[in-house]
Amino acid sequence: MILIVDDKPENIIALKRILEKHQFEVDPALSGEEALNKVLKNNYDLIILDVQMPGLDGFEVAESISGYSKTKDIPIIFLSAVSVNKQFISKGYASGGRDYMVKPFDPDVLVLKVKTFIQLYDQTRALQNMQQVLVEEVEFRKQAERTKDEFISMASHELKTPLTSIKGYMQMVDRSVDRDQKEDAKKYLERTRQQLEKLNILIDDLLDTSKIASGKLEFKNQVYDIDPIFDNAVDIIRQTYPSHQIIKTGQAEVKIYGDHIRIEQVILNYLTNAIKYSPNSSEILFDVSVLSCDEVMVNITDSGIGIPKDKQADLFTKFYRVEESSNRFQGLGMGLYICAEIIKRHHGRYGVDSEAGKGSSFYFTLPVYQDQSSKS
Ligand code: ADP
Repeated sequence: MILIVDDKPENIIALKRILEKHQFEVDPALSGEEALNKVLKNNYDLIILDVQMPGLDGFEVAESISGYSKTKDIPIIFLSAVSVNKQFISKGYASGGRDYMVKPFDPDVLVLKVKTFIQLYDQTRALQNMQQVLVEEVEFRKQAERTKDEFISMASHELKTPLTSIKGYMQMVDRSVDRDQKEDAKKYLERTRQQLEKLNILIDDLLDTSKIASGKLEFKNQVYDIDPIFDNAVDIIRQTYPSHQIIKTGQAEVKIYGDHIRIEQVILNYLTNAIKYSPNSSEILFDVSVLSCDEVMVNITDSGIGIPKDKQADLFTKFYRVEESSNRFQGLGMGLYICAEIIKRHHGRYGVDSEAGKGSSFYFTLPVYQDQSSKS
């Protein structure tokens, strides 16, 4: 849209007629003040500005327009009723004008100039937009780089912690053997084994996360009875954490189609989280149920630190850790992300119900395998 600023309505009408003939949209302003109001409210592609006006003259209006960041690049063509000296024309350019035309002017020349300036302005805006996009993109890369660096430093720390413990325990084993203290040596070997297991899980999680990113997480799907998979996972946790009590309720008595090692991985992850984030309680509930005959549901409930409501939506996102507890508990925020991916690949659902300070109940579901042969 073109803004025409002239204190004489007949001039505006004449210009409007010429421009509208060439499909330009036109907006009139009868004074410099009205023009300034309009440029701040609307978006114009070009301004045709009469120089001699009562109140603010054309140069003053142009100067103000070139002072606002929103309007500074709008091309301005000055129109003047009288032929003027060079000095006057220079003033027009200095105040932000692009061209200076003296009345009477050739309408074809005016239209050509208008078209050229609008095209130029469009290109300038396109360039500015592209520049902005590039600046944002560079910033986003930089940000990705920083996130990667932070992750590498956290991951190195997480890997180093069990390694340092292993080194320490191995020295204790040596010392116990030297002193012929067999029981102590066994105790330190068991601790070494636990740290090795931690290290193993960390490395597996790192590998799984990178496989998910490259779409290479593989599943070996078969039809299984689901209950032995649940029982086996609970047994593993009971043996690894004898200090905790896992109370299992319910039975599914159905088959599912999937990868039993991956399903076990989800259960072990939910259970180890339930233990890790409940430093002051030792009881974990593991409940199995079947919903409407077509979904198996597992609920793992702890009475631990819980999760604030506003943090629950992001829990299953890659590398997400609840800020309030991230310093107290070690971790990289990969476990639940991997669980989510595994459950999604089995066409199941997952989620959490939790209250800060009271505990959490993490659930997941798996579709029951519908045996086609038994239906017929
Ligand atoms: P990690 O435990 O390594 O941080 P996870 O992906 O397993 O990674 O968990 C993501 C985040 O979810 C954890 O950092 C923790 O803040 C929160 N969380 C997971 N399980 C529980 C739980 N049972 N109780 C409280 N918070 C939990």
